[in-house]
Amino acid sequence: MRLSLIIFVCFLVSTATARSAGPIASTPPWVAVDVGHTLAEPGAFSARGRSEFEFNRDLAARLALALRTRGAKVQEINFAGAIGSLAARPEQARGSDFFISIHHDSISPEYLEFWDWDGSEASHTTVKRGFGIFVSRRNPELAASLRCATTIGAALRRGGFEPTSWHGRKHQPADAENGVWYYDNLVVLHKSTFPALLFEAGVIKHREEELELLDGDRQARMADALAIGIADCLFLTGKSARE
Ligand SMILES: [Zn+2]
Repeated sequence: MRLSLIIFVCFLVSTATARSAGPIASTPPWVAVDVGHTLAEPGAFSARGRSEFEFNRDLAARLALALRTRGAKVQEINFAGAIGSLAARPEQARGSDFFISIHHDSISPEYLEFWDWDGSEASHTTVKRGFGIFVSRRNPELAASLRCATTIGAALRRGGFEPTSWHGRKHQPADAENGVWYYDNLVVLHKSTFPALLFEAGVIKHREEELELLDGDRQARMADALAIGIADCLFLTGKSARE
């Protein structure tokens, strides 16, 4: 039996148990999925010139689907790309049990190299690739945020995805083995009153990783691993993330 199927079955069992156990888990968990950046300010550009916002939107859509398949309710944040501010994101997510902001990573300008792409010069990197998960110590639900970050990182690693160690240059490790780092001043995290994390799916400036991140099947597998990790955190103990 595939691991994801086993976990899905476990989720169904734990949900059924939780339903009879009490009111805390009697309703499906509400997960807010946030698309990082906007159409007007789309973030970094990939090695081949595609905007980060487009990568974020594609993966967020797949994650929303994977979560709904597992019985979660999904609050879509900024799927149209027109949200007015960073603070509006957690505001729109009010009432959620968990918040995840979807991003894709770049690299500082000093590490960029240049190549000819489609007849013009474009920038890329060869030194950084892999996923990263950020949590903020200013978030009032730090323990639950960390617990979810760890289960998500572990699920991704079981799914064959590798974290980057690059963030160790600027950030203190929270659980480096599973790709989890502290980033205290991220607005969407410290303005959240519920467990929250920011996910960097990979490095779009890395030419090989960019192609992997564009692959629809791989996006679906990554979304599946994220949803499994969220389910591990929110459901498998039969408790809410905040308990
Ligand atoms: Zn971003």
